[in-house]
Amino acid sequence: MQILNYINGTLQPAKNQQWLANIEPATGQVYSELPDSDASDVNDAITAAENAFDSWAKLPSEKRSAILLRIADLIDRDAEFLAQAESKDQGKPVKLAASVDIPRASANMRFFATAAMHFASESHHSADAINYTTRTPLGVVACISPWNLPLYLFTWKIAPALAIGCTVVAKPSELTPMTAFLFSKLCMEAGLPAGVLNIVHGLGQKVGQAMVEHPAIPAVSFTGGTATGKQIAATAAPMFKKLSLELGGKNPNIVFADCDFDQAVSTSVLSSFSNQGEICLCGSRIFVERKIYDRFVAAFVEKTKSLPVGDPQDEKTKVGAINSAGHFQKILNYIELAKKEGGEIVCGGRAIKILGRCEGGYFIEPTVILGLPNTCRTNQEEIFGPVVSIMPFDTEEEAISLANGTLYGLAATLWTENLKKAHRVAGNLKTGIVWINCWLLRDLRTPFGGTKQSGVGREGGWEALRFFTEPKNICVKL
Ligand code: NDP
Repeated sequence: MQILNYINGTLQPAKNQQWLANIEPATGQVYSELPDSDASDVNDAITAAENAFDSWAKLPSEKRSAILLRIADLIDRDAEFLAQAESKDQGKPVKLAASVDIPRASANMRFFATAAMHFASESHHSADAINYTTRTPLGVVACISPWNLPLYLFTWKIAPALAIGCTVVAKPSELTPMTAFLFSKLCMEAGLPAGVLNIVHGLGQKVGQAMVEHPAIPAVSFTGGTATGKQIAATAAPMFKKLSLELGGKNPNIVFADCDFDQAVSTSVLSSFSNQGEICLCGSRIFVERKIYDRFVAAFVEKTKSLPVGDPQDEKTKVGAINSAGHFQKILNYIELAKKEGGEIVCGGRAIKILGRCEGGYFIEPTVILGLPNTCRTNQEEIFGPVVSIMPFDTEEEAISLANGTLYGLAATLWTENLKKAHRVAGNLKTGIVWINCWLLRDLRTPFGGTKQSGVGREGGWEALRFFTEPKNICVKL
């Protein structure tokens, strides 16, 4: 099967006719190919988006909204098929794709399609003047998304851009291009005008870099690794482009002794191993108050051992395949590093062979490590796999200091039944997001993003819509 670029309303191969292999992570087998596009395809996409911009931006927001809502309905219509495709392409359990990824993709489209109709700008009145601010769509914007939540994060970026009147050139990860390709067909069916959304497949260093470098692109919305984010910032900053960078994390999960123990254990297992731990919001450093440390570790390990790892197509599977051979090896290297650093692997720690269809797939047992200090590499670097480290703490101050003791600052989770303590600790955590007694409970209106090396800017709600606009203040003397 061939995946095609979506440029100026048509599906087409790369102009150079080159292809990249697309591998199913659960089997390690090539099952489709995608265009190995380059700067000339990006240029075509940008020209198409520039030509489409005026009429799309001038379309009344209700009309833009109606088209985006049609796309959301088509995602719902094809939900089962899309979930199968996402699972095959990414390695995640089909049940997870069906219950989280695909419903969230249509929710993203619907949320921003309707939000844009309620978007308003500010007006400031004083004794001698009225100031009013206009917010006009920026133009052609670049949206670059990663492989862990492919259609979920792809739509999370393009929906606000399109809803507010920008035209878009987008690049999904070359490791998971399938659902973005299927999405382009839905856009055609929904009647999205040619050139409004363009999807160019291929490698980040070629396609992504060409998008970021292009002078006609005033803004880049990027989700991915911190190293790539740095490279994008270095390219874009001298051109004064607007940047939204959602990057990596090393998220703390703090468990106080006065928590709801069963809830804390079961949600912590989810926040550790959902999507094979390949979610930027997973809590990879678990800090447990010493009073309940042994009890927590025992219960956590017992639950972890019962997680079925296997064929993503199997409805019973909770942990599927790691997304690529390279990432699989990276995770195994980190497990070896943890051992060298003195860590005790109390659960998992090895690659697994799944017999039958998935013999050549990339599977790793959910892994729990004890006995490492917060400062070691295992606890400082993003592993982005089914690997967590559990550490004890004695006081609230120590927990806060350990939690804040990394270069990252994306999300934190904390567990306590003491409301005052919960607010106090949340206020002191240097992260963009804090979950109290829950994890990944999302309201799409809230600001989403991280501090420190986890990124710059916020997505979600008005933040996302504002990002894709240029404000202009107009002052009228009374
Ligand atoms: P990468 O940074 O490797 O890639 C992200 C995207 O950027 C891909 O589409 C990639 O293309 C592209 N890209 C690579 N190089 C460039 C470049 N020079 N210019 C422009 N685009 C480029 O991240 P991963 O795909 O490995 O995703 C995992 C990372 O994403 C983790 O660090 C994770 O924490 C982070 N993430 C952050 C989230 C957040 O909201 N903060 C959410 C989800 C993930 P290609 O794949 O073709 O190389």
